[in-house]
Amino acid sequence: MASVIRLYVDHPLGVGQSVPLNREQSHYLFGVMRRGVGEVLELFNGLDGEWLARVVQAGKRNAILLCESKSKPMILPPDLWMMFAPIKKARTDFIVEKATEMGAAQILPVQTDFTNSERIRQDRLQNHAVEAAEQCGGTYVPPVMELQKLSKLLDGWDDRHIMFCDENRLGEAVALSQQPGPWAILIGPEGGFSPAERERLEAMPQAQGVSLGPRILRADTAAVAALALWQTSLGDWQ
Ligand code: SAM
Repeated sequence: MASVIRLYVDHPLGVGQSVPLNREQSHYLFGVMRRGVGEVLELFNGLDGEWLARVVQAGKRNAILLCESKSKPMILPPDLWMMFAPIKKARTDFIVEKATEMGAAQILPVQTDFTNSERIRQDRLQNHAVEAAEQCGGTYVPPVMELQKLSKLLDGWDDRHIMFCDENRLGEAVALSQQPGPWAILIGPEGGFSPAERERLEAMPQAQGVSLGPRILRADTAAVAALALWQTSLGDWQ
């Protein structure tokens, strides 16, 4: 039996609600996956949970589905931000994909003193988050923010805790204090953090310097390791 296709739609979902698909989704559904009228799909929009919906019009440019019943409630991730300095394209894509799968609530690319990349394509990265949510069965898609300077972000910082993943702590015990409330993970670029950034973060009571073990991890590996550590200590993996 063919697997059920899962799609994110930017449209309200509810009993009897008719939902149009966009051109790319219609092409994917009928042109690539060869599905047709009567097919049941799983739809989610990041707000209303997941819904089973049946194809009632199979236009290759303008398909229409009809929502039948709710198949999953809306589940929000814990209030965890993933902040990271963008690296090479494929590795940045990987971080966005994994942060979505592993349950980050918001993804914030930040420009640090030694950031490799001065630009990102926010729309491309947001699409990666949508695809990752479609694939992993989540009902939530984390917003991916535009690239912003870490120093500016820290200027207006509130009481959100920061898990400051610091390569200078190599080999220290891997531990995270169990403080409740909102958190942000911070991962540096290939060149690591500058002395000025480290000094500033170390002076912030919200920031906690954390080791990710005895080896230097690439930033994308570090992002996944930090997410796993946070989720098992304070998040929804407990
Ligand atoms: N160039 C740096 C060096 O040689 O020390 C390494 C930077 S590392 C490739 C990129 C980022 O991953 C770091 O800034 C840090 O946030 C995180 N990271 C990697 N390994 C880590 C570790 N063992 N402990 C804590 N953070 C780590």
